[in-house]
Amino acid sequence: MKKIAILVNEDTMQRCSCSGCLGACMDKRDSFERYGDEDIVLVSMTHSGGDLEKKIESMKKKEVDVVHLSTCTKSKNTDYEKIANQLAEHFDVVGYTHGTPDGKGKGKMAITLKKGEQIPLVETTIEEPIIEESI
Ligand code: SF4
Repeated sequence: MKKIAILVNEDTMQRCSCSGCLGACMDKRDSFERYGDEDIVLVSMTHSGGDLEKKIESMKKKEVDVVHLSTCTKSKNTDYEKIANQLAEHFDVVGYTHGTPDGKGKGKMAITLKKGEQIPLVETTIEEPIIEESI
């Protein structure tokens, strides 16, 4: 029995009923197809905002095996890779829920990490604007 958690994009959850994520999980479609005949149970579903470390502790207590990051997290959350790494310290991570892993070739490829794996993060720097002093 594989214990599954789904982590949804916080902003999207303000508008979405999560039926795409839930339907794919219940029907073992799309990212959940990988489990084949193995029994799965959804033990946690929440968004990635707020106190994520506390949520991770709760998932650990529930003995979650795999966290699926929602497809909207992949497409909309700039911290997608960082969140995936944070989760992969404790769980296997599958970086999408419903649809295809690459958004039918229009999006980036979903991350898949085994527990303990990490992907390199690309550092982004914000350049300071040049402020001209008035004389
Ligand atoms: S992945 Fe789809 S169904 Fe799931 S929360 Fe995002 S928009 Fe909604």
